[in-house]
Amino acid sequence: MERDIVVIGGGPSGMAAAWACAKLGAKVLLIERYGFAGGMATNGLVGSILGHYLNESQPAVSGFLKFLIEKTHKMDGCEKWEDSFKKYGIPFDSEILKISSEKLLLEEKVEILYHSFVCDASVENYEIKEIEVVNKNGKMKIKGKIFIDATGDADIAFFSNFEYTKGRFFDGKTQSMGSMFKIAGIDEDKLTEDIVKRAQKILQDLREKNELIIYNAGLGGKGSTRRKGERSFNVMRFSGDGTNVFDLTKGEIFLRQQIYKYWKNLKENVPGFENSYLSNLPANIGIRETRQIKGIYTLTEEDILKGNKTEDSIARGTYWIDIHCPLGRTKNVHICIKECKTDEYCIALDRYIDYLPSHDKLRPPSNDWFSIPYRCLVPKNSKNLIVVGRCISADHKAMGSIRVMATCMATGQAGGIAGYIALDENISVDKVNPKKIQKILEEQEGLY
Ligand SMILES: Cc1cc2nc3c(=O)[nH]c(=O)nc-3n(C[C@H](O)[C@H](O)[C@H](O)COP(=O)(O)OP(=O)(O)OC[C@H]3O[C@@H](n4cnc5c(N)ncnc54)[C@H](O)[C@@H]3O)c2cc1C
Repeated sequence: MERDIVVIGGGPSGMAAAWACAKLGAKVLLIERYGFAGGMATNGLVGSILGHYLNESQPAVSGFLKFLIEKTHKMDGCEKWEDSFKKYGIPFDSEILKISSEKLLLEEKVEILYHSFVCDASVENYEIKEIEVVNKNGKMKIKGKIFIDATGDADIAFFSNFEYTKGRFFDGKTQSMGSMFKIAGIDEDKLTEDIVKRAQKILQDLREKNELIIYNAGLGGKGSTRRKGERSFNVMRFSGDGTNVFDLTKGEIFLRQQIYKYWKNLKENVPGFENSYLSNLPANIGIRETRQIKGIYTLTEEDILKGNKTEDSIARGTYWIDIHCPLGRTKNVHICIKECKTDEYCIALDRYIDYLPSHDKLRPPSNDWFSIPYRCLVPKNSKNLIVVGRCISADHKAMGSIRVMATCMATGQAGGIAGYIALDENISVDKVNPKKIQKILEEQEGLY
C-alpha cells in the first residue's frame, strides 16, 4: 500500500491534519487504532474543547475547528460557532462528534483505515520509508512520501528513532493520567446549592480517607455531553507512564473501580442521583503527557507567559499552564505549582522549587496569545516526518498549555498544510517556507 501523505492518529490534531492536506488535493490515508475518530474527545470522553477563544468576540483558533463545530452543530451535537467562543469551553456530544468528524473527513476524500495500530517504522537517513501496521488482516506495510505523527505519544517519531523528551527534566515524570466518565439519569433540578455542598462533603470525606483519589469533588458538567440529566466528570488522577502498558493497565483498572465508587456514593447519598446510572466509561484512560519530540525549536514556559510572537507562527495558543501533579497527588491543590502545600515528600518542592510555576504566573498576557512556531512540528533532522498535537516540541511546562484540543487542532491543520507543501515542492519538511503555510492557513480560515 502506498499513499502521498499518511497521517497516524485520528484525534483532534490528526483529523485536522488529514482534512487540511486532503482539502489541498493530496491523497491522504488516516490510520486510527479505534473504530472511530476523535481521539481523547471520543475515546477518552474528554471535553469541553478548550483553548479556542481569545475573548468573547474573537476566537483564537478557527479553520478546521470552525468547520467541525459547524458540522457538529448541524447534527445537533454542539452549539453554533458564533456562540462557541463566547465561553470558556465548547461542550459537545461525544457520540455525535464521532459521526460529524468522520463526515467532514470523508467530504474531503480522506481515506480512513480504522482498527489499525502502527507499531514500527523503517527509516533511512532520517527519512521514513514505510510504517508497519498491525490489524485483523495481520501485519501491513504502508509506504508514504510524507508522514504526520498525530498519535499524541509521538509513537512514529519514537519508532523512527528521533530524539524526544519525557516529563520533568529532573525525574522524567509526566502529568498524571485520569479517566473521564459520564453519569446520566440525574434529576438536575434537585441539585440545589445545599445539595451540591452536601455531595461535595461526602466526596471530600472519602478523599480524606484515601478511598477516592480525586482532585475535584465536583458534580460534573457539560463537557463531552450536552444532554439533560447527563454530566461528564473529570475528577481522578493516576500517576504513571502513559507509554508503558503495565502502567496503562494498572491505571485502567484502578480508575474504573474509582469511577464505580464515585457514582455509587452519589447514587446512594445525594438527592437527584437516586435514578442515575453510569452511562459512559472511556475506551481509553486519559493521557495528559508522554513524549515530546525534540524539534528544531522547543516551545518554553517563557514563550507562553510573555505571549511571544514569531515570524514562522503557524498556530495561536492561549491556554494556561495546566499541570496535573505528576505524582498523582490530589490534596490541597489542583495543579503542580510552587505554592503546593503537600505534606508528603516531593522532589519538585524539595529540590526543584524554582522550576515550578507560581500560581499567579500561569497564563499568557490577558487578551493575548503566543505563537507556536512551525519549527516545533519538525523533529531535528527529519526529512519527511511532521509531528502535530500534544507531542510537538515543547518543554514540560509549555506542553501544559498547548495540549488542549483547540490548540492541537490548530497545529494539526498547519502540519497538514506543511505536509502538502513538502509533497508538492518535493522538498524535505524542514525546508517548507512558513509564509506559504500561513498563506494557505488564511485560505482555510486558520489563525496563526
Ligand atoms: C483527563 C483529561 C482531561 C482533559 N480535559 C481537556 C478538556 O477539558 N479540554 C481540552 O481541550 N483538552 C483536555 N485534555 C487534553 C486533550 O484531550 C488532549 O491533549 C488532546 O486530545 C490531544 O490531541 P492529540 O490529537 O494530540 O492526541 P489524542 O487526542 O490522544 O489522539 C491521538 C489518536 O491517535 C490514536 N493512536 C495513538 N497511537 C496510535 C498508533 N500507534 N497507531 C494508530 N493510532 C494511534 C489514538 O487512538 C487517538 O485517536 C484532557 C486530557 C485528559 C487526559
